[in-house]
Amino acid sequence: KEKEAEVDTRTKNSKKRIAVLTSGGDSQGMCAVVRAVVRAGIYLNCEVFGCYEGYSGLVQGGKLLKKLEWGDVRGWLSLGGTLIGTARCMEFREREGRLSAAKNMILRGIDALVVCGGDGSLTGADLFRSEWPDLVKELVTNGTFTDKQVEPYRNLTIVGLVGSIDNDMAMTDHTIGAFSSLERICEMVDFIDSTAASHSRAFVVEVMGRNCGWLALMAGICCGADYIFIPERPAKAESWKQSLKEICLRHRAKGRRKTTVIVAEGAIDDNLQKITSENVEECLVEMGLDTRITQLGHVQRGGTAVAFDRFLATVQGVEAVKAVLENTPSTPSPMIGILNNRVVRRPLMEAVKLTKSVATAISEKRFDDAMGLRDSTFKEYYSNFLSISQGDDNQNLLPESKRLKVAIIHVGAPTAALNAATRAAVLYLLSKGHEAYGIQNGFTGLIRHGAIRPLSWIDVEEWHNLGGSELGTNRSLPSLDMGAVAYHMQANHIQGLIVIGGFEGYQAVKELRDAREQYPILSMPIVCLPSTVSNNVPGTEYSIGSDTCLNVLVNYCDAVKQSASSSRRRVFVIEVQGGNCGYIAAFCGLVTGALAVYTPEVKVNLKSIQEDMDLLEKSYANDHGDERSGKIFIRNEKASKVYTTELVANIIKEAAHGRFESRTAIPGHVQQGKIPSSMDRISAVRFAIKACQFIEEDNEETAAKITNADFFKAEKDLRYTYKHGKKLEIAKGQNAVLCSIQGTSVCFKDIEKVWNEHTDVVGRKGLDMH
Ligand code: ATP
Repeated sequence: KEKEAEVDTRTKNSKKRIAVLTSGGDSQGMCAVVRAVVRAGIYLNCEVFGCYEGYSGLVQGGKLLKKLEWGDVRGWLSLGGTLIGTARCMEFREREGRLSAAKNMILRGIDALVVCGGDGSLTGADLFRSEWPDLVKELVTNGTFTDKQVEPYRNLTIVGLVGSIDNDMAMTDHTIGAFSSLERICEMVDFIDSTAASHSRAFVVEVMGRNCGWLALMAGICCGADYIFIPERPAKAESWKQSLKEICLRHRAKGRRKTTVIVAEGAIDDNLQKITSENVEECLVEMGLDTRITQLGHVQRGGTAVAFDRFLATVQGVEAVKAVLENTPSTPSPMIGILNNRVVRRPLMEAVKLTKSVATAISEKRFDDAMGLRDSTFKEYYSNFLSISQGDDNQNLLPESKRLKVAIIHVGAPTAALNAATRAAVLYLLSKGHEAYGIQNGFTGLIRHGAIRPLSWIDVEEWHNLGGSELGTNRSLPSLDMGAVAYHMQANHIQGLIVIGGFEGYQAVKELRDAREQYPILSMPIVCLPSTVSNNVPGTEYSIGSDTCLNVLVNYCDAVKQSASSSRRRVFVIEVQGGNCGYIAAFCGLVTGALAVYTPEVKVNLKSIQEDMDLLEKSYANDHGDERSGKIFIRNEKASKVYTTELVANIIKEAAHGRFESRTAIPGHVQQGKIPSSMDRISAVRFAIKACQFIEEDNEETAAKITNADFFKAEKDLRYTYKHGKKLEIAKGQNAVLCSIQGTSVCFKDIEKVWNEHTDVVGRKGLDMH
């Protein structure tokens, strides 16, 4: 009776009530989704109910449908799994169960549901929505409610979020949890690596993924695996054993002391017969290798979410609430996805249908279709994996005339992705018959010591998970002695250069380009591959290394927050790197749940500080006696000359009048990261290979121009270049470029243009970074 009275009191003007549930297999980031939906809901004037234990919460109602307040989800960003529970609920598959779910929702005045789960959970949600009007009618006919009571709830709004470690959903580039799971796999395989190398053993590592090989493929790339088995590109039934043996033996013959094979749980051969870890083990044992199997199992779902998943869960959770408020009865239920780094809404059932079609394609042996149905970069990553793992088979060598000498140099402060990128570039170059050279200790090393040496397969093959710079890096620029730089390039017959670095790397490429008049050897293709923790290189959305930095900060801030929460009312002001660019500070604030963020882009003044102090007071007031909730402020190292980290902490102390206290924390160089994150590893590989391909293509174009006499007649502005030791004239090319990463796409931008049009030279960042 009491509950019915509540139904009676609600009108169309009452606050919108939304339920949020997590369903199916858990994934890291689900807690962060619930937090974002609850807080965005409250912010947008809604009431949000946590539906506990997946769909069971709806079916059973009662205590399993509980209103959540702002403070209830405090700290959930840094928690793994899902605190509202998840389940596979059989009752919800039956109409009876869904009728009960509709009743429980109407009892609480809820007519919107945000579901975070896999394709099964989203299918169930859409079915529920399509049945809803009939379910409501039935609840009236069977006397549960009156017409008047159900009047405000004639339609159900459904919004789907994809929480899945498999990254198997179509129409989104990434699912919430996939990168965290990949990170867990990388951590585990790194651990296994050291023991494998000690005993010269082979390890077969089995990872999750029934119909989807994303985790296995990416793990193969990140962990420098010799071989992978994935369902979308099955191994040939008659020949896989032979091929596996050949590849592993070849690597051993080159000096590798360990063998790593990654097997997706759904691995099959091209006759659709299952390939198990035991099958692979047998084969490796036949080769005489001491072999072990490691099934990673639920470790892959464990631990806290990485920075990217926290970000994804947060922005998608907010978008889900907006979608609830904007959806009309005629709009198809949306699924929130991310495409090309932009949050998007896509028709949920179309995405589910497309996802299911991959399994169908595999079962019908249409493997090319299955590959094509995966996200836009899947095929490319597969080809990248082949280049760097099996490309040493001399099957893809270019003709002598097309082989190049390409040098790689690290410039600026180290980042965790430098070695992974260099390794990928070297392995790719060698696979095509090019020669790879490493310049040691940046431009200083080249200028002072002519430090440049050829790099072989075995030199780099262990670099996939090493932070820092094996080549050595520093901040010096080629202008230190451009003549010496040109001399060493010429003396070593270098025909292409990859500069991996941050703003200094970018500036170095600009200087080299400008020096071409004087030193024609520098007309060679030169690519800047952006790599910096600050993510401040103009003209690119992303620089490799910044994700590792964010993850280091996430762990650091979690620890600091925990410490702050253990003491009574303590606020930490954490100073992060980034130079004049607030990217790291802003992202760190978003993914750690900071109370305030100070960046150079947004002016800090007395007024803004006062507002933050007010917010802090309010936040403590909202804690309802929970005095142990730690708060953090994030301050970029150059946010303000006046309001230093120390001063902000002192202001907090002063404003508190003893009610709470403050501390500072400065992670410093730890932010460069010790081990590259999984996202940085796969990006490093992809972008390094792209850079090599740019150099190859530029060489092709130049060769085409050289043979085209008319081209030279038409061009006035001629330059010189050196090809295979001969001096040749070529036209002024735009082949000094920045590898520009925009979401999942990569393009090469003329360095001159980016420098002139998009660079804040004094601020050492892009003009459009705010
Ligand atoms: P994962 O990818 O981890 O398997 P999932 O969401 O696909 O996640 P499922 O077990 O397929 O996991 O679905 C989770 C729950 O969603 C089911 O237990 C059930 O309650 C509900 N559900 C799934 N499919 C349907 C359906 N067709 N009709 C009604 N409910 C469904």
